[in-house]
Amino acid sequence: MSATDFLPFTRPHIDAATIAEVGRVLASGWITSGPRVQAFEAALSTLFGGRPVRSFANGTATMEVALRLAGIGPGDEVITTPITWVATANVIVAVGARPVLVDVDPRTRNIDLGAVEAAITPRTRAVMPVYLSGLPVDMGRLYAIAAKHGLRVIEDAAQAIDARWSDQQGSRRIGAFGDLVSFSFQANKNITCAEGGCLVMNTPEEAERAERLRLQGVVRSGLDGMDVAEPGGKLNLTDINAAIGLGQLPQLAAITRRRGELAQAYFEAAARHGLADLGIELPRPTNATGAITNWHMFQVVLPTERPAGGPRLVRSAVMQALRERGIGTGVHYPALHLFSFYRGLGWREGQLPQAERIGRAILTLPLFPQMDDADPDRVCRHLAAACRTLSR
Ligand SMILES: *Cc1c(COP(=O)(O)O)cnc(C)c1O
Repeated sequence: MSATDFLPFTRPHIDAATIAEVGRVLASGWITSGPRVQAFEAALSTLFGGRPVRSFANGTATMEVALRLAGIGPGDEVITTPITWVATANVIVAVGARPVLVDVDPRTRNIDLGAVEAAITPRTRAVMPVYLSGLPVDMGRLYAIAAKHGLRVIEDAAQAIDARWSDQQGSRRIGAFGDLVSFSFQANKNITCAEGGCLVMNTPEEAERAERLRLQGVVRSGLDGMDVAEPGGKLNLTDINAAIGLGQLPQLAAITRRRGELAQAYFEAAARHGLADLGIELPRPTNATGAITNWHMFQVVLPTERPAGGPRLVRSAVMQALRERGIGTGVHYPALHLFSFYRGLGWREGQLPQAERIGRAILTLPLFPQMDDADPDRVCRHLAAACRTLSR
């Protein structure tokens, strides 16, 4: 097997026209935030039904700005999920607030909205749901809880570009409605800028403040031509990155469609190779309430029960066995409350049992548009064989 035969769990695809456009940006004499950033933001605003959108250097910076816009700081609590990229909780800590982690729903692997309600205290200011693998939570219920308790919602939609929520109002894109909605364009996401992010907001005033927060808090005014009313960061996107994003956006519909086809191929292959009989949990394509995933990832949860007479299946051994067969997999994510820093905030094993089980056993299988139609079958065949061998 040559290195090029290896099937990674994901791989970005930048087309030739976009590569040429990046070259033109570099030659143009304007390589940081400029006309491409403005064009990218305008295109994103169109995608999200005309709502105000601003771009940032990455998704993490985007979420931190969202928390600042919502006025969240020391003394405040923000409820979020432990099954996410650690950025979600880190930004809450970065603004001086306390992340309150609640358990996940094992069917969706997303934050359990019942647990959110139970965790609300007088200090709770916001909820930060994550749409793991691009599957939204029950958006009706989420916004009903927020309205009832007067909470802001900061959606970590990093993985959820082109995911949808369908209800009486029709099928609406995540970001086209709601409060503050954050996306990431990191290299592994469904569309990428290499690094980048964007925030969908409610009002032009929020968008103006977001512009200040991303560039040192500077406003143009006064005798000296500028003033600083509050300190901001250095969080702007460059025109180089925006040009990559602008080249990806027209392909979004095709990317989402192709991911859906491959996910369907996975479900069929999983049935053919008896993954469910091996105790492997498949993802849930849609939940009963209208969440439509963009198939950012196809994730399974390995069995955690010890089989009769056999050894417990260890995820790293399964990953190693697949790697030896030329298949890359990923872990998205270990439950973050068990990381040292969060243990230091008082979190302990046993507090969030579903998240702990899923965090130990979740496995991301390869899924990206340039994959072959036959790849899902090969992955499921090798996964089934590895699980059989390793639990004997
Ligand atoms: C990618 C990701 C982020 C962070 O985005 P960056 O652009 O890497 O900073 C945050 N949350 C989730 C769920 C992500 O997948």
